[in-house]
Order: sequence, then structure tokens, then C-alpha cells
Amino acid sequence: MSRHRLTVVLSQAQGKHPGKRALEESIVAALLMEPGLEVSVIPHLYDLGPDHTGRLFLGSVRGDMVFLSWLFPRAAFWVMDRDGIKGHWGESQLKPPVDDDDEVAGEPQPAKGIGTLDVPDRHIYCLDLRDFNQHDPYVGEIRRIADECRQRHEAKEVSRPATPPAMVQLGLNLGNGNGARTPVADAPGSPSFSPEQLLQAPGRRWYPVIDYSRCTNCMECIDFCLFGVYGVDGVERILVENQDNCKKGCPACSRVCPEQAIMFPDYKTPAIAGAPIGAIGNLKIDLTKLFGGAEKDALSQAVEERDRELVADGRHAVGASVGLPKRQDHQAAKPKDDLDNLIDALDALEL
Ligand code: SF4
Ligand code: SF4
Repeated sequence: MSRHRLTVVLSQAQGKHPGKRALEESIVAALLMEPGLEVSVIPHLYDLGPDHTGRLFLGSVRGDMVFLSWLFPRAAFWVMDRDGIKGHWGESQLKPPVDDDDEVAGEPQPAKGIGTLDVPDRHIYCLDLRDFNQHDPYVGEIRRIADECRQRHEAKEVSRPATPPAMVQLGLNLGNGNGARTPVADAPGSPSFSPEQLLQAPGRRWYPVIDYSRCTNCMECIDFCLFGVYGVDGVERILVENQDNCKKGCPACSRVCPEQAIMFPDYKTPAIAGAPIGAIGNLKIDLTKLFGGAEKDALSQAVEERDRELVADGRHAVGASVGLPKRQDHQAAKPKDDLDNLIDALDALEL
């Protein structure tokens, strides 16, 4: 029998919304009854700075992990990846009820991005706490994931040559007033944290998050941002280098990225906050713009937002004169997509 244990981390909502807290507490209470799980609670993931105990704890988890948060799963996964908390994408079977009016629908498009580097041999499953308002669906899905991970782990054990037993057995300690367990290291030498340390309230943060499964490393974002947020790593891959240089509330560069790879997880519009991207969804979003008439073209809007921040910083507005030429060339050369074809068809109908 495998002793594989699954780490479950619940990331709380910002603020103290009673309905959200009640759901969080009922999930944790139900999970504590489940065998084979290590359950911990941390504050809102997106707000955790590099020294926050919750971030350090996440970094200390070595095995498979289920991560529940009030963020889109894509956003949560790539926030962690940026912070070095990496793993393979764990596919959840928990799907929110389908609403005909949903802005985003359809199957995810095949990834064509540059991907991430140095991914350890484990899976991270991200679940969205906004999908259901009761704990049962989450608990059921976590049971299923635990089985899936156990089977994967056992299959690896069978194929792996025998190794001497580990010298140190580690796990989590039960017990604290919050219903969560106190994490203890799951690898020799790892730190341990008290629930009080884990739940220390962080200040709010605002920065872009790159989805490397979509990012093609075109560098349009680094050309566009005039606040030094982006940089490149040692192998010339785009990177959100100075997260806290970003201007609070402004999502300008997410509108400029040709691959919809830049997310602002706390932004109000799902497409920018990291909602799943599907062909139908994209079309619907663009159709809203097409017929609504109120929304500006995305690039003009981005330029306007950037100018506003430049002026607020005591600098001069630059309009579209800086950071956009590559995109314009690219657009001219690009084959027509579904939306172009739709517009052509509408033109033909003289609507
Ligand atoms: S603009 Fe988008 S696709 Fe291009 S490098 Fe930046 S994040 Fe990647
Ligand atoms: S939102 Fe503005 S300041 Fe922030 S990274 Fe994008 S362009 Fe730079």
C-alpha cells in the first residue's frame, strides 16, 4: 500500500466576506476528515510577497498539490510558477455549471507558448472556489485527484529500481484553532510554519502574470511597458522582473499581448483575469466589442491607460508612438482569423 500523501492548500479570499469564509471553513473541515491529505490555509496567493510565510510554505511543498483559491486556475498556476512553485498542470474534472451567457466558453486552444523551465516531477491542480458554493464538489474532486496521484505514484514506484528507505519520516502536525494543520517539512531540512505565521495578512499587490503556455516570447510587452516591469532571464526569456513597479489597477499590457498570455488575476474582466481561453469565448468577447460600440479598440485603450499612468508619474504621454510598431507589422502579415472572417461576412451582408 502506497503512503503517498497529497498536499491541499486553500488560499483565502481578500477581506472577510462571510459567505466566502464560510465556504473556506466548510471545505477545510470536510478535508480534515479525509485520509491521506495534508491541509493548510494561506492568505490570497496573488498578494503574497517573496518573504511571506505562506509563499515560503508553498515553496517547501515537494509533492503533488491541490490548490484552491478565488482565482481562475490558469492565473493561480502561473502566479505560483513565477514564484518558483512549479509542477505539471493537473487537469481538474470539476467544471462549473454552464451558463448560456458566459463570456468565456469552449475548449482551451492547443498551447503554442514557450512553456516553463525546470518543472519538477509532480502535478499541481488548481480549483476555483467561485465555481460552487458548497464544499461537496470540491471534496469529491480532491478525492478523485488523490486517487489519480496515488496511482501515478504507485506506477512510478513499480518502475523505479529499489532504493534504501529514507532516513527521516516527515508529515504534518494536526491541531490549531483554525481547523488547518501545522505544516511540517516534507523533505529533510525544510522549514516548518505555524498557522499564525501562514495567515499573516499581506498588503494588496498588483502585477502582471505571464501564462508561458501561451507566451511566444515576442517581447511586445517589454517594448510597451515604460515602467520597467518586464525583463529577460539568463536565456532571453521574457520575465515579470519588477512586479511591484506595475501601476495599480492598470491592465494596459494585457491588451497589447497578441497571445492573451498576460493576466491580472484580480481584474474584473474574466478575459484579463485569466479565464480559460477558447475559440468561442474569444469570439464572444470580440462580438461584444463589435456590437456594443462602447468599448474602444484594445490597443487604443492600452495606450490611453499607459498615458494616464505616465502623466500620473509626472512624465509625458507618448500615445501610440512608443512600443507598438511590431504589433502593427505583425497584424498586417497575419492571416485572417475567425473574427476577421466574421467581420468580412457582416460587411458582405451590409449590416
Ligand atoms: S507580449 Fe505576450 S506573448 Fe509577447 S512576450 Fe509578452 S507575454 Fe509573451
Ligand atoms: S500594466 Fe502598465 S505598468 Fe503594469 S506592466 Fe503593464 S504596461 Fe507596465
